Amino acid sequence: FAINMNQLQLEDELGRGAYGTVKRVLHKPTNVLMAMKEIRLELDQTKLNAIIMELDILHRAVHPSIVEFYGAFFIESCVYYCMEYMDAGSLDKLYGVGVPEPVLSRIVACMARGLKFLKDELQIIHRDVKPTNVLVNKRGEIKLCDFGVSGQLEKSLAKTNIGCQSYMAPERIKGESQNALSTYTVSSDVWSLGLATLEIAVGQYPYPPETYQNVFAQLTAIVHGDPPELPDSYSHTAKDWVNRCLVKRPEGRASYAQLLEHPFLRGDQTRPTDMRGWVVRALSWREEQRQLQEHSGDAPRPS
Ligand code: ATP
Ligand code: MG
Repeated sequence: FAINMNQLQLEDELGRGAYGTVKRVLHKPTNVLMAMKEIRLELDQTKLNAIIMELDILHRAVHPSIVEFYGAFFIESCVYYCMEYMDAGSLDKLYGVGVPEPVLSRIVACMARGLKFLKDELQIIHRDVKPTNVLVNKRGEIKLCDFGVSGQLEKSLAKTNIGCQSYMAPERIKGESQNALSTYTVSSDVWSLGLATLEIAVGQYPYPPETYQNVFAQLTAIVHGDPPELPDSYSHTAKDWVNRCLVKRPEGRASYAQLLEHPFLRGDQTRPTDMRGWVVRALSWREEQRQLQEHSGDAPRPS
């Protein structure tokens, strides 16, 4: 069945990205909470229709590590995209000062399994692996969202501004001026997976903007510098796993199968990791931070 706006009751805003806003909505006929992403596009009906049709493949992207897709529609020049609501939000707002190694291993195993499923079963390359696109719920589940399935949508969103946090692999940064789509292979996602893993582990993007004078210097470091590594407080196994993702030459990077067979992830599903407990702690940390910020905002200004 197809979802339309009349069936939805709008609730809170969940976040904003470079291209639109995500709101929580209640789908009244089924009483299911959903997350609805609004993407504003200046396109004609034909192109909007093409996008809605291309998004249809998402109905087949059913996997425990992939956010469920409910449907998409457009109104005027906006595409609305309805997906599973993840009640603990995205990882970038939960990892705090970093996560313990067993939790890291579980998060990363879910990401790698989701990416492998997309690639093997649907021939989809994600193209936007980063902590804001890894969602968490209070059951402790970790799921990926926002992967590139619609060529038309990608073209319409054509990134004019890559922002101050680039998860792009070196070959993509180099190839950007030529043809970004042709230089993108599955191993470019493996680089992004490695970078996201580092960020989640230590609680900070590995090429912090404070360190570089400008975005150019930062991109130069990604292309020409040594790849970043996990700090020594992590096990040798975890460090080795990250090193296998962050190889500068795309041919040198591990495949998803190899990454899942690596001792860092192998046996993950049989290890009892208290993910629910971690989510509860992460959410209370986030709430504390929010209150701190609110109070510092209220504080009387020194005269
Ligand atoms: P970018 O625009 O660079 O892709 P982004 O991923 O943060 O960044 P959006 O995809 O628009 O931007 O998402 C905005 C925010 O909304 C996310 O950071 C996340 O916190 C929240 N969000 C997105 N989808 C969901 C969902 N299904 N359930 C709960 N929260 C969500
Ligand atoms: Mg996103």
